[in-house]
Order: sequence, then structure tokens, then C-alpha cells
Amino acid sequence: MPDDASFDLIFRKASLAGHEHPVDIGVRQGRFAAIAPEIVADAPEVVIGGRAVLPGFVDTHVHLDKACLLGRCGHLHGGLREAIAAVSAMKREFTVADVYARGAQVLDRAIGKGTTRMRSHVEVDPRVGLRSFEALKALKRDYAWAIGLSICVFPQEGLTNDPGTEELLIQALQDGADVLGGCPYTDSDPDGQIARLFDLATRFDVDLDFHLDFDLDTSWMHLDEVCRQTKQRGYGGRVAIGHVTKLSALPPDAFARAADRLAEAGVAVTVLPATDLYLMGREATHDVPRGLTPAHRLLDHGVVCSVATNNVLNPFTPFGDASLLRMANLYANAAQVGPEGFPACVDLVTTLPARLMNLTDYGIAVGHPADLIVLDAPTPAQALAGIAEPIMGFKNGRQSFSRPAAQLLAPAREVLQPRAASLEANLDPSLPSLRA
Ligand SMILES: [Zn+2]
Repeated sequence: MPDDASFDLIFRKASLAGHEHPVDIGVRQGRFAAIAPEIVADAPEVVIGGRAVLPGFVDTHVHLDKACLLGRCGHLHGGLREAIAAVSAMKREFTVADVYARGAQVLDRAIGKGTTRMRSHVEVDPRVGLRSFEALKALKRDYAWAIGLSICVFPQEGLTNDPGTEELLIQALQDGADVLGGCPYTDSDPDGQIARLFDLATRFDVDLDFHLDFDLDTSWMHLDEVCRQTKQRGYGGRVAIGHVTKLSALPPDAFARAADRLAEAGVAVTVLPATDLYLMGREATHDVPRGLTPAHRLLDHGVVCSVATNNVLNPFTPFGDASLLRMANLYANAAQVGPEGFPACVDLVTTLPARLMNLTDYGIAVGHPADLIVLDAPTPAQALAGIAEPIMGFKNGRQSFSRPAAQLLAPAREVLQPRAASLEANLDPSLPSLRA
């Protein structure tokens, strides 16, 4: 490594995928400038102590506009239809300030849990107009220091059956929306909605992201029509579908055929474990199906997949801390993935969603933005297994958060020997620190 290079910051001894031993990572002007076993240079240092680093988690599917609604009204927690109706009633009262405040709560949590890129869906229709969209634009601007936010506008309550919605979507696309979403299952003409959305996406040159096939009835699927349109329009690599829980109900041969169709068309799949597990299979009185599509099996067929958050603390999912590592852990647990599959489950919340979102500058590589998080574990797979907290994060080379380890305060008489603070024996027990 040339020692004449100057750096603004050097990360020391970072455990990085693709490197057998910990490496030093140099940052210059907000970008990664060098990765080497040892960088000889004078610069402020961050001691990583052999902990795993990742370029941050990538959450491809979040609803910031309808997050944190628990307690707002006395709705019953039923299935999908009840959740849509509950939010439909509430969103007439949404103001820009209200959506901003609730979205900010989720972003604060997500940033502290290590998410550096996010795609948020936002409902646009005559009930809420463009108020939620305006709030998301402000959040995107105000949080750019910590997270890259991409805004996906979509018609939650139908398009062809909801007059005025298409005009509002067009207005949003003219005014900064990054992606166009869809929800054919609430439309009286699902194939008509799919066709209209492909028309609009082509016209505005944006990617598409559908909520799709969100039940366990395998007698029909909109997946076929989305794949057909994707191929016909030459849109492979630019289309994602979320939930697709029907795939979880297919026997192996039919599943393999569907997976091959998705891979061939270039349609990506997002699995949303918290919502899918909460809402699917409610008609069962016992032996309740999980309703969780096995993303790790789709990977074997060459389908690009992600695991994402979806809803946080609302009628669709009354849980959530915006942690993608916890979500990947939940997915692996519910999908019965063993340790041999943990690295792939980490990929489902990092590199694969970055591909789904066509983020060409994501990853710890020379020239890319210096986005990086430090996990309190020697490998990402071990972090996934134990839900190790991210202890610090950087965006464009600037520190965006820190999380000191919990300090146990045992009574003095019970302290027999000093113990390493870290769960993992082979880590440097001293906390990573900034040294000026
Ligand atoms: Zn969603």
C-alpha cells in the first residue's frame, strides 16, 4: 500500500467479506479510497478490532407514511382487508407534519439499526392526495446525511376503480417520485392496473414495485401477467414484486416452474416476514400455515430477492423496530434456514436488495460512497444468529450513529473475575473508538 496517500479516515482491522484476514479501509472525500491488509498513513482512525463490517442494510420495502399508527383509533386487528380499511379511514386526516413525524420515528430507528438505503412506498389517491408524498420528499431531503431514501408512489386502494388516482400518480412522478408501485389485488381490473402502471413506468423511465399475490390461494396468480408484461416491455431487472405469499403454498415442482419464470423475466421478489407471518393463514383454526415465501430457495433459481420491513406498528403489523438484521433473523427462523444458509440470509438484506434497487454504487469498494456499519460480531452470519447490534455507522465517510454496549452492573461481591464485554471470545473486547 503506498504510504504517500492521504486519507480523511482509516478503519483499522475490519472483518470484510472476501478477505481472509481483517483489513484496513481508507476513506477520502466521503468515498472508499483504499482497502489493504495494512494502510500506512497518518489519519484519524476507527479501531474495529476484527468486528464484521457491512456497507449498511438495504430495506427495499417500507411504508413510512402509515407507520406508527397504533393507538390512533380503536380498530380491530383482523386480516389484510381490515388493515387496508383501517388505514383508509385514518389517512383522510393525515397532514404533511403528521406523516413527517411518524416517518421520522421509523427513520431514526432504521438508521440506528444500520440501514443506509431504503425504498419507501407511499399511498397516493384522492383520500390523502399528495400530502404523504410531500412529507416523504421532506424526509428524503432531511435524512440524506444518514440514509439514501427512494420514494415509490402507489395506489393502495386500486387504480382503474379509483378516479383521480392516476392523475395524482402522474403529478408525483413529475415531481420527484423515484419508483412506481402497484397493488393489483385491490383493483377491480388487476390486469388493467398492471398494464397502466407499465405504461406510466415506461413513460417516466422509473422502476416498478408491485404488492402481489398476497394470499395462499394458488388457483390464480398475477405473477404470470407481471412476468409477461416485463418481458414484452423489455423491463427485466426493473420490476419487483412484494409478498407473493402464494408461492409458499406451491408444491416443489410448481414452485420451481414459477421461480424459473421469475428468473427468466428478470422479476425480483421481496419477502416481508413480519407482515406475512402476521396476516397469512388466519382462516386456519389450527396447523396455521406460515405463509412465508422461501426467498432462499428462489435464490437457487437465480431470482433476485430481498427480505424487508414493510409495516411498523400499524394495523398491518403491530410490531417493529426497523431492524433489518432482526428481520433476516426472523425470516431464517420461520423459514427453517440453518447456519449454512445464514450468509445468504445476510445477502437478502444487503447485496441482493441493492441489486433489486439497481444501486450501482453500493458496497465496500474503492470509489463507492463510504457507507459502512460495524456489527458487534466477528462475521455477519454470527451477527444474524445472535442479532448483534450495529455499534456504529458511517454515511459518506461521516459517522451517523453510535451505540455503546450495555454495561452490566453486578453487585461487587459477585464479581469474581473480569469478563470480556463481548459475547464473541475472539473479538478485541475494547469498544471500537474514534482516535483523532
Ligand atoms: Zn407493502
